[in-house]
Amino acid sequence: MNRLKKLNKRKFIFAITLLILFFIALFLLFKKDNDLNEAIHDEKYDLIINYNKTDVKKVDNPVKKYIRVNKRAFLNNIKNKEKDTKYNLLINVNTKKYDDFYFVHASNYQYLGGAHYNRDDYGFTYNTKTNKYIDITHFFKDKDSFEKLFIVAKNNLEKYAKKEGIVLDNEIVKDGLHPNLENYKYFYFDDNGLSILLLPLQVASWSDGEILITLPWEDINTLLKSEYQNKNVTKEKEILVPKTRDIEKLQNKKVIAFTFDDGPNKKTTEYLINEVEKMDARVTFFVLGSRISYNEDTIKKAFINGNEIGSHTYSHRNLVKLTDDEVKDEINKTNHIIESVIGVEPKLLRAPYGSINDKIVSYSNMSIINWSIDSNDWRLKNRDLIKKEILNYAADGKVVLVHDIYEESVHGAILAMKELEKQGYEFVTISEMAQLKEQTLETGVIYREF
Ligand code: ZN
Repeated sequence: MNRLKKLNKRKFIFAITLLILFFIALFLLFKKDNDLNEAIHDEKYDLIINYNKTDVKKVDNPVKKYIRVNKRAFLNNIKNKEKDTKYNLLINVNTKKYDDFYFVHASNYQYLGGAHYNRDDYGFTYNTKTNKYIDITHFFKDKDSFEKLFIVAKNNLEKYAKKEGIVLDNEIVKDGLHPNLENYKYFYFDDNGLSILLLPLQVASWSDGEILITLPWEDINTLLKSEYQNKNVTKEKEILVPKTRDIEKLQNKKVIAFTFDDGPNKKTTEYLINEVEKMDARVTFFVLGSRISYNEDTIKKAFINGNEIGSHTYSHRNLVKLTDDEVKDEINKTNHIIESVIGVEPKLLRAPYGSINDKIVSYSNMSIINWSIDSNDWRLKNRDLIKKEILNYAADGKVVLVHDIYEESVHGAILAMKELEKQGYEFVTISEMAQLKEQTLETGVIYREF
């Protein structure tokens, strides 16, 4: 009896000890996690870690490890440093959940003295349904669809840049948005669409910081696997892929930008597009918003061939004679219509009659493109005279004004181009011209030639 009591007592003590150990372990575990989230303002350094647990081990564990490793490294780094400056560690962990997925991005800023911060980024995407780490291509139909992401991302980045007044460099954007895993490492889906985090220097300058662009569902739905498409999206944007060309080969050539106003006009514009294509040339169309709805295919074709589409306002009224609201309407309505057809908002504006003032220039938020050679086509009405007029003034960097609604004008322009081709000229869009002449097309600036 006594023995049994003793045994029970022992068992009891053993159980209690186990229980206590369990709680200590739990406490330590909890404390450890809590320790990860902290703000220390020491004499020598500031240390801030912002982190939220998810309770999914495969999401939490790598993040915890990342935090510990970087914190340790930081404290080691400053251990033997003088107290002459305040050192700094900031780790921000951003975790989003959508559907079955966790999207994790952590950034780690360290200031260890000197002129610059060090920045380091880390992240991953986790599928809770399959318990696997995945990358962005997982959501896309196929390679072709993933490649089209470039176009959608570029359009949305350009819109963002315009709003924020950021000047983009075409070549940097091309590299920074090129469809590969490195460029699209940090992203998430939510009710607004697909958001992509672009790190400093990825597409803009260091001072522009990180850029978050959100590609709306209507832009990306068709690119995604059907199970990831947003079923609530009613209209889906068609994604047109313009032909690209390497303009490096034009670097040392004489170049002219032909620009065509007042169209599109089905018969004459399409004829022009085909002739331009045969010459491997590119031109710019300044279209009227009011003429687009019944010429959508013509504009699409011009755009796909690599030509540039600019705005010539909605109804060709003299802007300086309109009220502010009317001017804004003329510009905004046209931009909206052009975007709805080709997927890109125009960046270039040519005011009707070239008539514009400083106020309109500034709130158009576009680059204003005038001209340096007037073909006088509307007055001459004869292809040979128009050709002669253009050839008289042709020179490297010039911008030629023609109207593609008249048959004689289109023929005159083509005849001039064929003659100039023999003289070694190449024909480029306004954007290509600016790039070749190492100029950045800025908004609120008037250009006549390059
Ligand atoms: Zn016009």
